[in-house]
Amino acid sequence: MKHTIIVIGGGPAGLLAAATAAASGASVTLLERMDRPGRKLRICGKGRGNIGNTAPLDEFLAHFGKNFRFLRPALAHFFTKDTIELLHSLNVPTKEERGGRLFPESDSAQDLVDAFVRHARTQGVTIRTGCRVRSISRQGEGFEVGFGSQSLAADRIILTTGGASYPATGSTGDGYELAKSLGHAIVPIAPALIPLVTEGDTASRLQGLSLKNVRVELRVDGKKTGEDMGEMLFTHFGLSGPLILTLSKAAVRAVDQHKKTEILIDLKPALDPAKLDARLLRDLGEHGKMHVENLLRGLMPPKLIPICLEQTRLAGDKAAHQVSAEERKRLRLWLKELRFTVRGYRPLREAIITSGGVDLTEVNPKTMQSRVCPGLFLAGEVLDMDADTGGFNLQAALSSGHLAGLSAATAS
Ligand SMILES: Cc1cc2nc3c(=O)[nH]c(=O)nc-3n(C[C@H](O)[C@H](O)[C@H](O)COP(=O)(O)OP(=O)(O)OC[C@H]3O[C@@H](n4cnc5c(N)ncnc54)[C@H](O)[C@@H]3O)c2cc1C
Repeated sequence: MKHTIIVIGGGPAGLLAAATAAASGASVTLLERMDRPGRKLRICGKGRGNIGNTAPLDEFLAHFGKNFRFLRPALAHFFTKDTIELLHSLNVPTKEERGGRLFPESDSAQDLVDAFVRHARTQGVTIRTGCRVRSISRQGEGFEVGFGSQSLAADRIILTTGGASYPATGSTGDGYELAKSLGHAIVPIAPALIPLVTEGDTASRLQGLSLKNVRVELRVDGKKTGEDMGEMLFTHFGLSGPLILTLSKAAVRAVDQHKKTEILIDLKPALDPAKLDARLLRDLGEHGKMHVENLLRGLMPPKLIPICLEQTRLAGDKAAHQVSAEERKRLRLWLKELRFTVRGYRPLREAIITSGGVDLTEVNPKTMQSRVCPGLFLAGEVLDMDADTGGFNLQAALSSGHLAGLSAATAS
């Protein structure tokens, strides 16, 4: 039987679901509320579109936290190599960068949007823009979808409305209400991959400074809760950049539970305390007449020097040879543990991804079909799944979208 399918939401999950369902013989209409599909995809990876990651399956899944099991069947069915092949067939060759991150060779996320839209159209999908779906109701075995003053009937629905961050892209969380109206439970939503707001003015004084090859630790109530190496950024409100975003989900939870939440930055991760002490001794000895503030230039970016002098209570105009053992110890500790107290996080609208969403226990991972509303399929960020940065989220949207499209078109 040829199914009539309405896909709600034209992000990567919806576009690939629609194309796959149409390629599998269904008659497919995609309804997108914005004036064109893929508005969020277009800004992904700072406009370069980190579309996937070449990590092997188990390593890939480990980036999804506690819900990692759910995605296994979808990834087994459509994974990174399939994304690469599909994009290649759509004349968008890809390249791999640091940490297995996959990008279009053109460095243009817009090329990805154009390719997925072209793919959907070529398979026969009707894409209707400016159609914000407000209701889905059951009509016998099928559904009626309401948008504006219009409605459309279908025997299957694929819900791919995304999360609730960056609402200007069209993802305002409508899908949660639509899923709820069909009987689904929603795991409370919260920002994930979100910059952190810190106490005091240290971060704002360092605004714009980006640190590479540092180790950052998240400490909650005095206990190490997470740690990673890489790059971070100071902003006018606090801390951002890939390392901070990765640790942010646990930090958000800790802040919400009113736990003492700290970020500790190790500016010299390659040197253990003994080696760092030896390095400081050598520098102070070799440049005995140099002012401390000049000597520090060899140890840190210039913007950090006034902060370092203040927090270690070292006089910048002191000669290096006058630095006491106690002062050297303070400097060493500061270099290994530059501390920030987290007092909050930026709002959900600024999150890279929304955590929470449609409860995964109510969705069959082998088909993406709802267990509470047969005929409804779900994929992408509307589901309660979120991962670290690195292309994992877009691949999850594509994999779940592909499986939802295939199942909706073919399952009896
Ligand atoms: C700034 C930023 C950068 C990012 N960079 C990356 C990256 O480089 N790599 C990566 O893996 N992930 C990245 N992400 C995350 C990634 O964008 C999402 O995980 C992904 O877009 C989710 O795909 P989706 O199809 O589920 O939802 P979306 O892309 O959010 O698409 C949902 C679509 O549904 C439409 N819609 C919503 N409600 C309705 C309605 N009622 N009726 C009709 N249509 C509706 C929306 O307009 C939208 O087009 C980034 C996110 C942000 C915000």
